[in-house]
Amino acid sequence: MSEELITQRDGRVERVAPYLTEDQIQERVRALGAELTRDYAGQDVVAVAVLKGSILFFTDLIRQTELPGLTCDFLGLSSYGSRTESSGVVRLTQDLSQHVEGRHVLIVEDIVDTGLTMQYLLDNLATRKPASVQICTLLHKPSGTRVEVPMKYVGFTIENHFVVGYGLDYDERYRQLPYIGIMSFEDPGD
Ligand code: 5GP
Repeated sequence: MSEELITQRDGRVERVAPYLTEDQIQERVRALGAELTRDYAGQDVVAVAVLKGSILFFTDLIRQTELPGLTCDFLGLSSYGSRTESSGVVRLTQDLSQHVEGRHVLIVEDIVDTGLTMQYLLDNLATRKPASVQICTLLHKPSGTRVEVPMKYVGFTIENHFVVGYGLDYDERYRQLPYIGIMSFEDPGD
């Protein structure tokens, strides 16, 4: 895997230390795809990418499924807060383009930390009367849990780190990395 990434920005140093390799991620995504293929065989399923963090995971995951009844949709959520901590105040910034009533919804998320974002989305989707709703998250940080949300599919359970890469950003950067790294900061005086 690549070396640590070191960037100077806004007068401080940003470091991204490799954590989950591209191979580890792709192997796990293949396994999740196979599981989804088994669980949703013959069903009308709407796979929903939660923008923007899940984009890389979503596009890899759907390619690892063999589900002729699968359709894709996109949903935007924003959570207010600092750049590395979620506040729990969630807002829908972009809605689905399809009706989901009576259909099986699969939410594809990048990371579940406090659970507040997914709780908001589950409550919102429930009003639309889908046949079922399941969450497929690439990462889960159990140490951050404030509300328990049911996650049927979890890629990796991780420690309490702020991670970037493979869709996850810091200040809109690092999404394009094919691996996941742990982000840390250094002020010049440190
Ligand atoms: P929750 O509502 O579960 O606390 O947080 C969910 C959202 O917070 C994620 O969709 C993601 O946007 C952001 N988030 C939580 N932890 C991390 C992290 O370690 N790295 C990044 N880049 N975003 C995170």
